[in-house]
Amino acid sequence: MSFRYIGRVVIPSPNAERYATVCQFCNVGCGYDVYVWPAGEEGGLKPGEHGVVYRVKDTVYNRELKPDSTDFSRITVLSHSMGIPWISEAMVVRTIRRDWSKGRGTGEWREVYVAQIPSPECPINMGNHSIRGGTNGERNWSPWNVAGARRLKFPMVRFGGRLEVVTWDYAIDLVARVVKGVIDRWGVESQRWGKEGHAIFAHRMDHGGGGGGAMIENVTAGLFFFYGVRTAFARIHNRPFFGPENPAIGDAGPGAMNNSLHDLRLADVMVFWGANSYVTGTVMFIEHALSNLRGATADEKRRWFGGEPVVDTYMIIVDPRKTETVEAARAAARDRVLHLAPEPGTDIVLANAIARVIYERYRGTVDSILQVYRQAAQRGFNWDENAWRLYLEEALEINRKTLDQYLAEAEKVTGVPRRDIERAAEIIGAPKPGGYPKRVWLMYEKGIIWNQNYRSIYSLVDLCIMTGAFRGIPGTGCQRQGGHQEGYAGPEPPPPPWVKERLHPSPWNFAKLKGIELKTYDDYRRLFNEWYREVYTEGYYKTKWPMGDRYMPTTDFRLEGGEGRVLWVHDMDNYKLAPAAQRLKAAVSERSWRVTRYVFAQDFAGITARDSAEQYDTRALDIQVTTRPTSEEYARLVLEALEKTGGLFVVVQDIYPTFMVEDAHVVLPAAFNNGETPDVRMSVHERRFRISDAWLDPPGEAKPDWWIYAMVARRIVELYEAEGRRDDPVARRFRDAFKPIWDAMERNARDPSVEVENEIFKVYIANADETFSRLGVGWEVQYWTPAFKKLDLNILRKFRTVGVILPLTELKINPDGSVEARGIVNLMEPALNPQYREEVVVARPDGTIERRIELVSSEKARGYAVNKLRAWPSLWLGHPLYVAELMKDYKYWVLNGRYNEIWQTGYQDPNSEVLIRRWPYAFIQVNPEDARREGLENGDIVVVYNPHGSVPAIVWVSEMVKPGVTFLIMAHPYSVGANAVTTPSVEPVAQNPDYKLTRANLRKIGSLRPEVKATLTFKDIKFS
Ligand code: SF4
Repeated sequence: MSFRYIGRVVIPSPNAERYATVCQFCNVGCGYDVYVWPAGEEGGLKPGEHGVVYRVKDTVYNRELKPDSTDFSRITVLSHSMGIPWISEAMVVRTIRRDWSKGRGTGEWREVYVAQIPSPECPINMGNHSIRGGTNGERNWSPWNVAGARRLKFPMVRFGGRLEVVTWDYAIDLVARVVKGVIDRWGVESQRWGKEGHAIFAHRMDHGGGGGGAMIENVTAGLFFFYGVRTAFARIHNRPFFGPENPAIGDAGPGAMNNSLHDLRLADVMVFWGANSYVTGTVMFIEHALSNLRGATADEKRRWFGGEPVVDTYMIIVDPRKTETVEAARAAARDRVLHLAPEPGTDIVLANAIARVIYERYRGTVDSILQVYRQAAQRGFNWDENAWRLYLEEALEINRKTLDQYLAEAEKVTGVPRRDIERAAEIIGAPKPGGYPKRVWLMYEKGIIWNQNYRSIYSLVDLCIMTGAFRGIPGTGCQRQGGHQEGYAGPEPPPPPWVKERLHPSPWNFAKLKGIELKTYDDYRRLFNEWYREVYTEGYYKTKWPMGDRYMPTTDFRLEGGEGRVLWVHDMDNYKLAPAAQRLKAAVSERSWRVTRYVFAQDFAGITARDSAEQYDTRALDIQVTTRPTSEEYARLVLEALEKTGGLFVVVQDIYPTFMVEDAHVVLPAAFNNGETPDVRMSVHERRFRISDAWLDPPGEAKPDWWIYAMVARRIVELYEAEGRRDDPVARRFRDAFKPIWDAMERNARDPSVEVENEIFKVYIANADETFSRLGVGWEVQYWTPAFKKLDLNILRKFRTVGVILPLTELKINPDGSVEARGIVNLMEPALNPQYREEVVVARPDGTIERRIELVSSEKARGYAVNKLRAWPSLWLGHPLYVAELMKDYKYWVLNGRYNEIWQTGYQDPNSEVLIRRWPYAFIQVNPEDARREGLENGDIVVVYNPHGSVPAIVWVSEMVKPGVTFLIMAHPYSVGANAVTTPSVEPVAQNPDYKLTRANLRKIGSLRPEVKATLTFKDIKFS
C-alpha cells in the first residue's frame, strides 16, 4: 500500500532507521535516503521532530546542509537543494519487515513504513529526481501492493505443462545435477582446467536484480559461470555475447567513462549525440547540462578558468528525432541550441564532415590542441601520430577531395544541410576571445552504440581528439552516457574452445593476429586496407557473419542454430530484448519443450488417437498428468532428453515472472538489489561509487543471487564427492571459488551480525588481486586500485549518498575515526597536464561529510590515468546487409528506444499505477505526413512488421519524427517490444546489435475504443 490519493504522506519518525542507496534505474545514479520505522508512528514538520537529517559541506558546488535545514513547514518548489526535499505519495510504502535487532533478516516480522527520498546530500541529484526515480519507493514490495503480488517468491519447477512450487533443496539439487551432468558428458577437456562446460549458456545481466550495476552480485555470477562451469557462451545485458559495449573508445585510450559532472558544468560546448538525455539521463541533463546552458554555472567557470573568458554556452544535439531533449534545451536557450537530424545510420558521415570543416577552417585551434598531445608524448604519453595521419587522409580525405566535394557528399548521405554542418563546426571549432580553444564536452549513447557501433563511436572519438575534448582540462570530456549504472567485477571469461584468447577484432588485435608490425606509416596503411577488406567488405557486408563471434561467441544465434544444452537466464527477458527476439523465442521455446515432452512423455503415453466411439474410455482420465519425480530422477531424464532430442534445459532466475518463464524448467526467485541485498555500483558520468544498502527482507523465499550460486556450487561439489571424485578438477574449481562464501555463510548462521555480502566484497572485490591470483585466473574490478584493499561496505556506508569517485588514489582511515577518500575527476587530466583535479571526500565521526576538489601534482596519478590517444579512420560503407535488404520493400525506419517513464523491459512499471495508466500500451510515433498516407490517426492500432517479426502498437502521430522515420518504444511491460522487428545484424568488431537500424511496414488493424482513447494524450511534449 502506498499513500495514493489520500492527500498526505507520513514523515519519517525521529527514530527511523536510515540507509543510503542509489536509484535503481538509470545511468545518472542519483542518491536516495531510505527510512524505515514502525507503522503508525510519524515525524513532525520541524527539525528535531523527524528523522530526516543532513550533514554535508560541499565546497565544489558551494552547498552546506545542516540538521536544522530540514524544516518541512518551509517546503517550496525546488527546496530539495536546500535540504527540504519534497516527499510524495509514491515515495512511501507500508510493508512488513523483520526487526533485525540481532542482524539483517532476523527477528519478528512487524509492520513498517519505508520512505525512499531523493537525497539532497548527493552531489549528483542534490535532492532532485526524475519521474522514474520519484517512484522508487512504491516499487518496494509489500503484502498489500502490486509489487508484492507480482514478485516471484518461491522456487518452481515444471511438471508437465505447469510450473509448481518446490523446496529450494529440490530446485538446487535438480539444477546442480543437470549442470554437473552436462559438464561431465559434454564438457570440453582442457589440459589446465579439466572439463570446461561450454554446453551451458548463460544469459546474465551484468548488474543484478535491479537496474543498476552491482559488483557483489555479478562477481558471484562470474565465479559460477566463468570459473566453476567455465563456459565461453555467455551473453550480457542487451547484447548477444559477453563483451564490452564501447570497445572503440577503449582502443582509442580514454575509455567509456573518463570525465565528470564537474566537467559538464564547466563546458563551453556540450554535444549530445544519439542520447536523448532528457528522457534517458534526466537529472544529469536538467541539473547539470541545462544549468550550464542557462548560465547558472558561470561563477564555477570563473573559478576554474583563470584568465580565460567565460562565454555563452552552446548545445548541439544530434538525433534523427526532434526529441524532448531538443525541446527542453531550446526552452532554456533557444538561440544557442543546434539540432542536427541525420538519416538513421549515417552518423559516421556527419561526424567526419564536421571534423573536416573544423580541420580546414580552424586549423590554428586544432594545431594548438594537437600540440598538447605531442608535448605529453615527450613525457611518455602514447600519442599515435601515424594513426592520426591515417585518419586525416582516409576518413577526412584531405588530399583526395575538396571541402566542397566532401560536404556535398555528406549533405547527400546524411540529409543534414551543409549550412548546419558548418554551423556545428563553427560552434565547436571557432576559438573564444583571446584565441582560447573552446572547452568541448561530448556524450553519446545508444543512437551510436546500436548503430554500427565500432566505426560510429570511433568517428566521434576522432572528432573529440581534434576538438580537444580529450585534453584533460576542466570542462572537457568525451564519453558515453550509459543506460544504467555500472559495477563489473569478476574472473575473466574463458575463450571458446577453438581460440586461445577472447578479443574483439579491432585493428590493433587484427594486426597482432596477422603479424603486422606497426612501425611505419606504410604499416598502418597496410593494416587499414587489410582490416577493412577482411572484416567489412569481404566479411560482414558479404556474409553477414560477425567476425567477433570467432573470439566471443554470439550465444543467441548459436542457440537458434541448436547449440548448447542448458540456458541459465539471470535477470533479463530476452524474449523482449534480444535482437530479432521472436526468432530466439521460437528456438528456445521449441527446444525447451522437447525436453519437457521427453521427461513427462510417460504420463501421456496411454492416450492415442482413435475413431469416434459411442462411449468414451474413462480409464484415460485416470492417468496422472503431472507426477513429481524426485529431483534425481528428473535430472536423469533431462540428461537423457538433452542427449536424444537436441533440447534445451532452461533455468530462469529473476525477481518477476518474465516472458521467458513460459518456457523455463526451473524458476529461481531472487532478492531485489534495490533494498533486499546490499551491493555496490557507480554512476556512469563520474564513476561515483556507493553502497546500495539493504533495508527490507525479500518476499517469500526469494534469495540473493550470490546465495543461489553458492548453494548450487555447493551441491555440485557434494555430488562429485558422493561419487568419490572429490579431486575432479570441476569439483575443485567450484570449491576453490566458493569456499570463502560458504565459510562466511556458516559464520553468519552462528552470528547474524556477520554480513556475508561484506565478506564477499572484501575477498573478491577489495582484495581481488590476491584472490584471483590464488585462483590462477585473470580478473576485472572496474577502476580497482590498491586503495580498494582498505575498503569495505561499512566504510562505504559512512560516505552515504556522496560516495567516492573512482579510481581512488588514496583511502585514509584516521585515528579520530574519520575516513578520507581521494579520487581522480577527469582521467585525461593527469596524463596531459602538470596538475589534476582530485576529489576529496571526508566522513567525520559526527556524520558530517565534506567534499572538495584539490589540484594535485599529476605524478601521483599517472599510473591510473589514460596513457594513450589513438585515432582510427571510420569509413561509412553503406547500410549493413540485413538492413539494405529490408530497404527494398519496407518503407519506414523503426527507431528503437527507451521512453521516459518506461524502464528497460518495463519489469517494474506495473507496480506504479500512475505510470502504467499514462502508458498502458506500447506506442509508435508516426509523422503526420506518413500517417495521412497510411490512413492513421492517434489511437489507431497498427502491426509493425517485417520478415523478422511483428509487434502491435498504438499510433501517436507526432512531429518528433520526420517523414519516413518512426519511433517504436523499445519495451513495455505488456508488449514484446521493438526487438520483434530488429534484424540479426550485429557489428563485426564490437558485436553490438544494430537495434537502431531496421525497416518495417505498418498495417492498421483497429483503433482504441473511444472511452480508452479519451484517457490518453497524444500531444507532443513542449516546454516553456
Ligand atoms: S535520473 Fe536516473 S538515477 Fe536519477 S532519479 Fe531519474 S532514473 Fe533515477
